[in-house]
Amino acid sequence: MILDGKKISLEIQDEIAAEVLKIKSSGKKIPHLAAILVGNDGASETYVGAKVKACEKAGFHSSLFRMPAAITENELLNKIIELNNDPNIDGFIVQLPLPSHISSQKVIETISPEKDVDGFHPVNVGRMVLNLPSYLPATPFGIIQLMKRYNIETTGKSCVVIGRSQIVGTPMSILLARNSYPGNCTVTLAHSKTKNLNEICKSSDIIIAALGKPEFLNANMVKDGAVVIDVGITRVPAQNSKSGFKLLGDVKFDEVVEKCSFITPVPGGVGPMTIASLLMNTLKANRKEIY
Ligand code: NAP
Repeated sequence: MILDGKKISLEIQDEIAAEVLKIKSSGKKIPHLAAILVGNDGASETYVGAKVKACEKAGFHSSLFRMPAAITENELLNKIIELNNDPNIDGFIVQLPLPSHISSQKVIETISPEKDVDGFHPVNVGRMVLNLPSYLPATPFGIIQLMKRYNIETTGKSCVVIGRSQIVGTPMSILLARNSYPGNCTVTLAHSKTKNLNEICKSSDIIIAALGKPEFLNANMVKDGAVVIDVGITRVPAQNSKSGFKLLGDVKFDEVVEKCSFITPVPGGVGPMTIASLLMNTLKANRKEIY
């Protein structure tokens, strides 16, 4: 079965819009998400644009603060402190990557954990590890939601997460190992130094491919009935497409699909779920559900 991330993301966005209508009619404060965008990176513009658009569709207030690429680290940190102290803003994100003269870690640690709807602050990461309420990073949170909506059984299953980045692989491995649903898996976190990855994949009930290597996972690495979640997104040139490129995942979809019980496509799988996650986190911030 294909896990339709686009459909589920729209369903969640509709549910959030309905919640916002209730908030409005009760006279309470409408959720407000802000984003800081530094410089003019094309991909970042696209991502932030999609987030702002989704906010508007859901009935949220949104604010976009554009900063020049030459902004100093101190100036950016001061802007963050200003947003931390602004009672009108429930949560905000600083779009990454940042120019090389700015420390992303310093930026992340300056955002107040209460407003860190990207879930990158060490306090939120620590709370996630401890299974305490926290903002979860958008991509792993989106995958968890997708598994939940399709009632995918995870308890007692073996799972391999390929890739250990701080934004995807590592939090994903923690979430699936936690004592909750989805979770209670026995998780292997694989990376570029892992030996026998083929065997590990072949013996896993659930495979999360998040390494950024197009079509890495082939049918020989997947056992019959496995659940395969493809996080990878790589742009490759494509002569027949209007834009001149196409998106490839980390999974050889056409051959792996035959063996799976569930699989996400690229595009239309994990990608659209990240927007829904950000809106869910902002709604939690507005309701003060976590802090
Ligand atoms: P990243 O920071 O580049 O990390 C890649 C990870 O994969 C690293 O841990 C690396 O190991 C591991 N790796 C690389 N080659 C490997 C191999 N041959 N075998 C096993 N492990 C290998 O990547 P990321 O930011 O997590 O992103 C991964 C992919 O997901 C990219 O295609 C990205 O575009 C996509 N992505 C999609 C979404 C979405 O919304 N769908 C969101 C974020 C990212 P080492 O640690 O040993 O180097």
